[in-house]
Amino acid sequence: MFDVCLLGTGGMLPLPNRWLTSLLVRFGGSSLLIDCGEGTQITLRQQGWSFKDIDFICFTHYHGDHISGLPGLLLTMGNCDRTEPVTLIGPKGLRKVVEGLLLIAPGLPFEIRYMELTKDQIDEQQEIQLGPLFVRACLADHGVPCVGYSVEIKRRPRFDPERAKAAEIPLPYWRFLQQGQTVTGEDGRVFEPSMVLGEERKGLKITYCTDSRPKDTIVRLAEGSDLFICEGMYGEADKEEKAAQHKHMSYREAATMARDAGVKELWLTHFSPAMPAPKAFLQEATAVFPNTRCGKDRLTREFVYED
Ligand SMILES: [Zn+2]
Ligand SMILES: [Zn+2]
Repeated sequence: MFDVCLLGTGGMLPLPNRWLTSLLVRFGGSSLLIDCGEGTQITLRQQGWSFKDIDFICFTHYHGDHISGLPGLLLTMGNCDRTEPVTLIGPKGLRKVVEGLLLIAPGLPFEIRYMELTKDQIDEQQEIQLGPLFVRACLADHGVPCVGYSVEIKRRPRFDPERAKAAEIPLPYWRFLQQGQTVTGEDGRVFEPSMVLGEERKGLKITYCTDSRPKDTIVRLAEGSDLFICEGMYGEADKEEKAAQHKHMSYREAATMARDAGVKELWLTHFSPAMPAPKAFLQEATAVFPNTRCGKDRLTREFVYED
């Protein structure tokens, strides 16, 4: 299970009620932040969720509207007496950019760890395990190194005692097999978890993509998502040419990706500051993908398993 909070929904320029892009995923006493635009710590404070528990911060790219909130946030986390390391994840250039920002956030009481995504990780969407979360990154199309992320919690298949009995597996071994461990019995027989586990169970998955042109690989990354959070820089249909020029997306393009990926729900984010009322254009998206919402700062959802 996890909770998702869309902390900031602005692109380029913050507005009085719209901070710059960031998303927080909270799970089992820990948190993962994706992007950290200006105002992230203000909106996080308004949301009332913990600063101290942010163990992982992923960056899509290093345009200011996605990272300028980082030095202040790290200082605040330090002031909350955090001492455990924080892992930062992002495309090429991560260490260089963050070390520059740390010049104005010196003396942090915790270690910063860097995980700069390799070409293989981005091209082949290798899984990165961060605590109980499985994260995949995929190259976006934004003119600078930029990635989309999916975040997933997997579920172990249910234990099937009938199968365990039928295979005559001694009772004391059941617990280990249930936890996914292979067990060798006293008589040398080897018992595999697959002998006692039932059908796969659906976990939870969200995908986050901003800033980018529409891309097939991002559609594949988003497949099977309970929630797809995607930029909708421009709501107006007549701004698609502008969106293409600036390597961004329109509502309709984001909705088309959501439809093609077969996700359950789409939230739009990263709105142009020239669009004071993003909802006014929602129909552009719902005409293509009905289950679309316009994101707003601190839009929150708790995700629980289906059964
Ligand atoms: Zn941006
Ligand atoms: Zn950008």
